[in-house]
Parts: sequence; C-alpha cells; structure tokens
Amino acid sequence: MKLILLGAPGAGKGTQAEIISEKFSIPTISTGNIIRAALKEGTEMGLKAKAYIDKGELVPDEVVIGIIKERLSESDCQGGFILDGFPRTIPQAKALDTMGIAIDAALSIEVMDSEIVKRMSGRRVCEKCGASYHTEYKKPAVEGVCNTCGGKLVIRKDDEPETVLNRLNVYHEQTEPLKDYYKAQEKLLIVEGQDDVADTTALVLKALSEI
Ligand code: AMP
Repeated sequence: MKLILLGAPGAGKGTQAEIISEKFSIPTISTGNIIRAALKEGTEMGLKAKAYIDKGELVPDEVVIGIIKERLSESDCQGGFILDGFPRTIPQAKALDTMGIAIDAALSIEVMDSEIVKRMSGRRVCEKCGASYHTEYKKPAVEGVCNTCGGKLVIRKDDEPETVLNRLNVYHEQTEPLKDYYKAQEKLLIVEGQDDVADTTALVLKALSEI
C-alpha cells in the first residue's frame, strides 16, 4: 500500500501513521522527522530548514522533494509506505506524480481548528527518537519519559501557540488544496478525527479496507 496522510498539523496523522505502519508492516516517512533529525545533526539542510520550521513556515519545495526522492529509493519502501507530512503543496504532489509513484489513496484526517489548538498545547515529543505523546490523549507510561527509548519528552518549539496558528494558516492556504488535487484523481478518502485515537483508527482502517 502506498498511502498519503493529509490533515492539519495536530490532526493525528503521525499517530495514525505509526499504527498503520505497524499493522501493514510498511515504513512511515515523515518529512518533518527527517528534517528535525537533520537539524539535530547540524547538517547543512537542517540548518537551512531551521528558520522555516521555527516560524511554522514550509521548507522550500525543492528541499523536501529531494529528501523524499532519496528516501523512497531505499529498499524498505519498495513494498509500500505511508507518507506523513508530504506532499504539502501542489508542486510537491506533482513531483511525486512525475517520479512515477502511483499512490493508492490520500487519506485526510479532518479536525476543527479550535480542537487542534487545544490538542497541540498538550503535545509532547521524545527529544531522542521523535515519538509523539499527549498529556491527555496519549500518555506515556511514566510522565515525561518516552515508552520506546526512555528519552525525555519535550514541547516542540513549533507547537507553541503563535506558531501553531501560523501552521494552521499555512495548512489552509497551501496544503488543503491537495484535497481537490487527489479528489480529481479519485484517490481522496476523508475521515473525521475523533477524540479517542482508537476511534479514529477504526474509521481509518474502514476507509482503507474500501480501496
Ligand atoms: P511536521 O512534523 O510534519 O508538522 O513538520 C514540521 C515542519 O517541517 C513543518 O512545519 C515544515 O516547516 C517542515 N516540513 C515538513 N514536511 C514538509 C513538507 N512536505 N514541505 C515543506 N515543509 C515541510
């Protein structure tokens, strides 16, 4: 399965990606995680991306397209993958088409902006492995500690309230038009994001079973 997950930042794409990834044994490719890892390593790409990420802006198309091209050519992607956070603009979607990647579906997880702002204020990420948690909806076994690697859970700089509002604007202006793009290709699936992660997963799996 080759799946794109669409949705505003904080709509629960990352969590659903992890669940589907495990269920179908296919990798999740998160451009956000790749960029954050590069930033942590201090690579040239990471340093270039930092200013955009911190403001909640999108990193230039050519940078993320380059990342995706390289990542999708790796052997673990040949049997399918989930794209979490890519494409985020029409040129990125066109680049994917040009690469000859035939996706099966673009699944949009829809949550109201007001709910997203509420959710993102409780979001925590592991500073070591990038796994995400929530103070209310997805608590770690031990407060402040990652279940997977024992790393410290922190608030991402771009999850701060002002940046969140900017990210939502960027989403509506630049990413939401992708829904029409994939609708025209008859690949768009829509799922209403629920408060409970498991309820959203049930809807996601039902939608995927129909492709
Ligand atoms: P995410 O974790 O997916 O919310 O991504 C965090 C940040 O990384 C975004 O706010 C952007 O600055 C950048 N980013 C991730 N994916 C993309 C993309 N496909 N296009 C442009 N910027 C991206």
